[in-house]
Amino acid sequence: MDLGALSTAERERGWLALGDRHFDVVVIGGGVVGCGVALDAATRGLSVALVEARDLASGTSSRSSKLFHGGLRYLEQLEFSLVREALRERELMLNRLAPHLVKPVSFLYPLTHRLWERPYVTAGLTLYDTMGGARSLPRHKQLTRSGALRLMPALRRDALVGAVRYFDAEVDDARHTLTLARTAAHYGATVRTSTQVVGFLRESDRVSGVRVRDCEDGRETDVRAHVVINCTGVWTDEIQRLSGGRGRFRVRASKGVHIVVPRDRIVSDTGLILRTESSVLFVIPWRNHWIIGTTDTDWNLDLAHPAATRSDIGYLFTHVNRVLATPLTHEDIEGVYAGLRPLLAGESEDTSTLSREHAVARVAPGLVAIAGGKYTTYRVMAADAVEEAAADIPSRVAPSITDRVPLLGADGYHALINQCEQLGAQYGLHPYRIRHLLDRYGSLLHHVLAMADGRRELLAPVPGAPDYLVVEIVYAAAYEGALHLEDVLTRRTRVSIEYAHRGLEAARPVAELIAGVLGWDPATVEREITVYAARVAAERESQQAPSDAAADALRSAAPEARPEVLEPVS
Ligand SMILES: Cc1cc2nc3c(=O)[nH]c(=O)nc-3n(C[C@H](O)[C@H](O)[C@H](O)COP(=O)(O)OP(=O)(O)OC[C@H]3O[C@@H](n4cnc5c(N)ncnc54)[C@H](O)[C@@H]3O)c2cc1C
Repeated sequence: MDLGALSTAERERGWLALGDRHFDVVVIGGGVVGCGVALDAATRGLSVALVEARDLASGTSSRSSKLFHGGLRYLEQLEFSLVREALRERELMLNRLAPHLVKPVSFLYPLTHRLWERPYVTAGLTLYDTMGGARSLPRHKQLTRSGALRLMPALRRDALVGAVRYFDAEVDDARHTLTLARTAAHYGATVRTSTQVVGFLRESDRVSGVRVRDCEDGRETDVRAHVVINCTGVWTDEIQRLSGGRGRFRVRASKGVHIVVPRDRIVSDTGLILRTESSVLFVIPWRNHWIIGTTDTDWNLDLAHPAATRSDIGYLFTHVNRVLATPLTHEDIEGVYAGLRPLLAGESEDTSTLSREHAVARVAPGLVAIAGGKYTTYRVMAADAVEEAAADIPSRVAPSITDRVPLLGADGYHALINQCEQLGAQYGLHPYRIRHLLDRYGSLLHHVLAMADGRRELLAPVPGAPDYLVVEIVYAAAYEGALHLEDVLTRRTRVSIEYAHRGLEAARPVAELIAGVLGWDPATVEREITVYAARVAAERESQQAPSDAAADALRSAAPEARPEVLEPVS
């Protein structure tokens, strides 16, 4: 069975393929955009290689607010086409492409002004529903103050005069990006992580490939291709500099911080959206937790490890505590994460596709760049990038078909949900566990649980992180391309933000499980635990720091899990 396995054997085969083959397309960057481009190109019949310097989704794509959203704020700016496009993508994900990963979520919008606010918000949400928001999710609903308080008893009574409830969708971003990558691999793409682009190949005036470095052992090879697509988010300018040419647009980074608190600290049956002076703040239901975010500040420091400061966290507390009857305190924090928005800056006229959201350009013969946008519209971005790259591919390039390509695990998901009881009996697991697994793996559940055949000990909860099963850790190392303890605790699972110990209490047992699959010796197990613990300590210290500069100095001093990664690359 192929199933886009990202195993160690595939990793070796991938290295040989990178050096030997001539690809139609090489994709740089394993965030949601790069993985989307790899899937788009592979399903058009092109030969594709994707290289990612660190781990899949290790950049922005594991650090978002995790919403597939229509973008209500674009309505206020009268950007109707952006809203329609985003709503269409949300529908596709919910119903066809990734129903196992993308779930409906409702938000309460508290009204604080009498008379004008309700008609204003209602007009916007009616438009939202009409444009596609209510195609498969419920329409928005008007609530009195008492009705809103019944739904969200955690609110202070004087924080609202009434409310409106509406629906959007949420996703485990890191898992979705990983699943995209595996789906691309399933359709023939060579996907290789810990593989950094360190140079460009040229033939006369055109880019003809890239030089890559294995970030685990430092070996290097040349990869040849008709076209290279730069999908590196906030690293776009760095890669552009490395290519030696001038870009058509620049990308600046804006930091967004989230905190995670236990579910029982805010009594509510719905999420919450609050207006702030400059933007909005979400309280998003996330398994047994709430995610609260986000901030929006310029960031010019380490791109790989953006650090949250004490004032970022203070900002979130200030805003959310204004409406909560029982304020949150620092003791409530289970996790904190910071991500960098890749925002377009300094774009010029001659970019071939430029919306307020994303830009695509053929920056040189054989080199295409795409950046900006948002998670929700990755599929549209990917199609645009491959369209642009077609000019460099000698054979005919078929149209994009990714609106008809369900991600691995989507097929059969709904039937399996109806069979939770029987599956529980079949595998000897509580139906609640089956549901958890289905919402992470979809119909790949059988592939995951096959590993526990004759090894019932794999069906035990992970020591220190009992929301997950041991088999999920083993599967992550065997089939999901996890190469380090950090990959498993931070992205294959979300233990690092879901437990107040930030993964430390699970680090040793998880490292030992990974060791069994990847063949780590005792010294490697110790190194992995030490590096992970140093990362957690550096993050915790940086979260006490008063400024970005101080937080960055603390965070970037922690060692890298990938010993041979170059930072920065140019
Ligand atoms: C705080 C925050 C909240 C957000 N919330 C939402 C939301 O709720 N909904 C939404 O739709 N969008 C949201 N976004 C936006 C969304 O997350 C991003 O637009 C999206 O994840 C960007 O993906 P990407 O693939 O462009 O970049 P990335 O995910 O950063 O991927 C780029 C990759 O390139 C790799 N790379 C860099 N250099 C090299 C090299 N030399 N060789 C190989 N690989 C390299 C990096 O390691 C990285 O993995 C949010 C963003 C932030 C910061």
